[in-house]
Amino acid sequence: MNFLPDSTDVFVIGGGPAGLAAAIAARQQGFRVMVADGAGPAIDKACGEALMPDAITALERLGVAVPALEVCRLNGVRFFSSGLFAEADFPSGLYGLSVRRTVLHRALKERAGALGIEIFWNRAVTGITGTRVADREVLLPDRNVHARWIIGADGANSRVRRWANLDRLTHSHLRYAFRRHYRVAPWTDRLEVYWGKHSQAYATASGPDQVCVAVASRNPKLRLDESLCEFPALHERLHGAEPASAERGAISANRRLNRVYRENIALIGDASGTVDAITGEGLDLSFCQALQLAESLRMSDLARYQAAHRRLSLRPLFMARLMLLQDGRASLQRRTLRVLRRHPQIFRRLLAFHVRRLSPVDLALNGLTLGWGLLTA
Ligand SMILES: Cc1cc2nc3c(=O)[nH]c(=O)nc-3n(C[C@H](O)[C@H](O)[C@H](O)COP(=O)(O)OP(=O)(O)OC[C@H]3O[C@@H](n4cnc5c(N)ncnc54)[C@H](O)[C@@H]3O)c2cc1C
Repeated sequence: MNFLPDSTDVFVIGGGPAGLAAAIAARQQGFRVMVADGAGPAIDKACGEALMPDAITALERLGVAVPALEVCRLNGVRFFSSGLFAEADFPSGLYGLSVRRTVLHRALKERAGALGIEIFWNRAVTGITGTRVADREVLLPDRNVHARWIIGADGANSRVRRWANLDRLTHSHLRYAFRRHYRVAPWTDRLEVYWGKHSQAYATASGPDQVCVAVASRNPKLRLDESLCEFPALHERLHGAEPASAERGAISANRRLNRVYRENIALIGDASGTVDAITGEGLDLSFCQALQLAESLRMSDLARYQAAHRRLSLRPLFMARLMLLQDGRASLQRRTLRVLRRHPQIFRRLLAFHVRRLSPVDLALNGLTLGWGLLTA
């Protein structure tokens, strides 16, 4: 058995993408860092597996190299609805990537290992003790570890959030999502979003011979195979393709917390709030939060992290709400598609806003054009 030393500067609870990114960023600021995760690597999860352009920049800053042969480039987004499609490129010079969760996890784990971060897999944290900050310890099955800072990166159902009494949500909107990979030659270099009557499907290439498909809906009983019937164009593409992974489920939600830290405990990633899967933004947010959190730890100022966290999540939460206005509204979907086809610059600008390359003022002007287009479509 591995015996843990008794103290560290930063203890990260959860070794998923957010936890490992937080650990790496903190180590880069000179802290001694430990991580514990209840599961073992490489950790998989239901995910659309798209990395937005800022996620790629953040990974570069973290020194994480995802093997080039195991990623696919995403040049933009394509929407499908009722036999129509519209598409937009990312702003000039930008691109996204799609990468299997297990490949991404391996790359993060390797970087953490190279930086000398101690990671304890298959060891779930069972609590945090100490009412005073100076006495605070993280409880593991084999011992307690004293930590100056504790980071809760334990996912959407975070127990750290509860232990730290940070559970007050300002907004929550639940959907049910499923993901599976199919063995089929990728046909697209875009993140494809298929709008159905009761659900949406997302498809991305995830290797030379695989495509990742995720679906999300408000119906807890709807499963992937059933849902695919809503998307004839996608269904046809996947016809006869063998599944290359098991179907995995997850909750997709827009959830914002009032606070993301208390005393020396901070939350990150899905533990600190989530944005609906339709944005393709959870990983991007986690990596950007990790960089901000490490900077705030260096300055011993978690209020700074709270402000940065809020700033980072406003835009994806807004975009999630905007996109989900279409959910279940077939005629609005058709009209929107028509407008986006007729005015491709509107779609380009919406995407530029989504990836933080267009200001809210510019988006507002654009919104007027879109609104007028919808009224007259
Ligand atoms: C259907 C779907 C599609 C999505 N598509 C995309 C996409 O295309 N692009 C994108 O950027 N984002 C996407 N997301 C969001 C993204 O998957 C999440 O934002 C991301 O997984 C958050 O990572 P995390 O590390 O915070 O949480 P998780 O990945 O959930 O990791 C939490 C970790 O904490 C560990 N843990 C839990 N409790 C304990 C404990 N007590 N002790 C120790 N360890 C513990 C768990 O084992 C786990 O490893 C999607 C989400 C869904 C549901």
